Amino acid sequence: MVCDEVKRVAYFFLDGTLAETRRSAISSHLDLCPECKARTTFHLLVRIFVQKRLSHVAAPPRLKQRLTRSLRAFAE
Ligand SMILES: [Zn+2]
Repeated sequence: MVCDEVKRVAYFFLDGTLAETRRSAISSHLDLCPECKARTTFHLLVRIFVQKRLSHVAAPPRLKQRLTRSLRAFAE
């Protein structure tokens, strides 16, 4: 597991859509690599923030789509 791969799949990792084996590989990498851990934690915080905002305000589907897309781009 290399940092580049963690970067690439961080979005799916946080989304919980990764296979269990990859999930645990990333988890153990995050334990060893402070850089990836910081970056992934940051993504997680952004996600939580956005989800909170979206649950309070009924965002139009197009805005939600755009946010999701930019988050995905950001995670790459
Ligand atoms: Zn790393």
